[in-house]
Amino acid sequence: MPATTMIETAPVPAQGLPPQMPRICLALQAPTVAELLAKAEQAARESVIIELRLDYLNHPETAPARIRQFCESNPDTPLIATCRRQAAGGKFKGTIAAELALLAKAAQAGCRFVDVSLETAERAGKEAMAGLGKRARLILSYHDFERMRDPEPIFTRMQKLKPAVYKLVFTARSFSDNLVLDAFLQKHAGQMPVVGLCMGEWGVPSRLLCMRDEAAFTFASYGAGEETAPGQIDIRELRQVYRVDDINRATRVYGVLGYPIKHSLSPRMLNAAFRKESLNAVYLPLAAKKAEEVLAAAHTIPLSGLSVTIPHKTAVASRLDGLDPLAKKIGAVNTIVRSNGKLYGYNTDVAGIVGPLEQRLTPGGTPPRVLVLGAGGAARAAVFGLRARGAEVSILNRTSARALALAKQAQAKTVKRADLKKLPFDVIINATPVGMWPDVKQSPLKADEIRAAIVFDLIYNPMQTELLRMAQAAGAQVISGMEMFIAQGARQFQIWTGKPAPVAEMRHAVVSWLEEEEKKQKK
Ligand code: NAP
Repeated sequence: MPATTMIETAPVPAQGLPPQMPRICLALQAPTVAELLAKAEQAARESVIIELRLDYLNHPETAPARIRQFCESNPDTPLIATCRRQAAGGKFKGTIAAELALLAKAAQAGCRFVDVSLETAERAGKEAMAGLGKRARLILSYHDFERMRDPEPIFTRMQKLKPAVYKLVFTARSFSDNLVLDAFLQKHAGQMPVVGLCMGEWGVPSRLLCMRDEAAFTFASYGAGEETAPGQIDIRELRQVYRVDDINRATRVYGVLGYPIKHSLSPRMLNAAFRKESLNAVYLPLAAKKAEEVLAAAHTIPLSGLSVTIPHKTAVASRLDGLDPLAKKIGAVNTIVRSNGKLYGYNTDVAGIVGPLEQRLTPGGTPPRVLVLGAGGAARAAVFGLRARGAEVSILNRTSARALALAKQAQAKTVKRADLKKLPFDVIINATPVGMWPDVKQSPLKADEIRAAIVFDLIYNPMQTELLRMAQAAGAQVISGMEMFIAQGARQFQIWTGKPAPVAEMRHAVVSWLEEEEKKQKK
């Protein structure tokens, strides 16, 4: 007799989800039942589904009695009981029969869902699964902790066992793996309850995109250090930054393409703008080593617009259907718009650099002498933007051939580092990543090489870089990359939506976050 037939409870529908289900699941684990349920009590305030990982308990058999108490005091919080065996990637040392017996007891105690791995379910057989499914909705889950797989054959195997919810979890090794899952969810998730995501750093987009594909729910972590799977996003960030509860099929998707992208503040800034303007749009971090992977996805996800950052700004320029004249001249794109199935590139970095400088330079005065450090995308925007306004521009770059080529194109000069102490400049612009978080002690110039009235560091994290600190100490006027960041982002927002950007909201979103982070680092 299968272990699950021992307990009598009211039958539950095999298919479909209860109405008004939360869209976020918090997976909780602890060594003791008291600790696990204490975490659950706290988490229940968040309006979430809670997954209890019974296999992490030292004594899982003690859980059902406490689960019953929890369910009585939290009747609106759906619980999932999971007791994954070691062979299926969990910690439970018992047999399949023991796993199913414990899940049946958890169901009787009030868990509305029980999660069983596909491999366990296949070994237990259809009858045992049908028995368990009468006591709670059965989530059949498949995990690959190593790689992405074709979800279709796995889904076909699952269908034979008729679960209430299909859960397919893979590990992304590149941006493209998100797309395999996205295509699968686009096909199936609107038809039946499916949960699908990719774990790992590369899989972050899948955790948000799945909601647009009408996945039953997505997973979140309950605070830093509480992640139960790699790549999980904190629940506050999911709700406050990404507004995940509001994502639906009509949500427009934007994102920032770069690598690495984990520490970009663009998602905070542009999601804050979308929220302020009540737009049904979400802005995602899209990490990709090859820009083509994301450009190809522009049509399939589909993406309405992209920001482009290190190291893809110059590479994408030749891969688009059209460029605005400024982006063409610079040969670097930081903004992409998808319109009528075509991708168009713009460069809003120029406005982000020239705008803050013009506010500080005397209009109609002698052309300023500007030193630009770097010859990449941002440096090109600075050089072309400033040359167009008549500035005398000199370039210093780690790879001197790149500096020479840029100087030739923009009718600028190059300088050698050894000559810096002899040459006077009005403005120095740092367009290299030297000094960017986490290498905050670095500076592209030494104190005695900083000889200018204005120093503009395009780095925005930290807001005060080592270069700016030294420049300020030397009496220079300093401009943080934050000014450029907000100005270029505001222009992107305007290009994508046709509306003026809510600049104060955007500034608040990034500055308050950075200040918080800086406080934490000082503690
Ligand atoms: P990029 O296209 O990759 O160019 C980077 C440039 O920095 C290249 O010229 C590179 O020299 C140089 N470089 C890189 N590492 C260096 C090192 N260790 N020492 C000396 N030089 C180094 O990047 P980008 O898009 O132009 O971005 C450059 C900086 O501007 C970044 O810090 C970025 O955060 C900042 N930025 C800020 C904003 C904003 O909104 N505030 C916008 C865009 C960019 P080689 O030619 O020798 O490789």
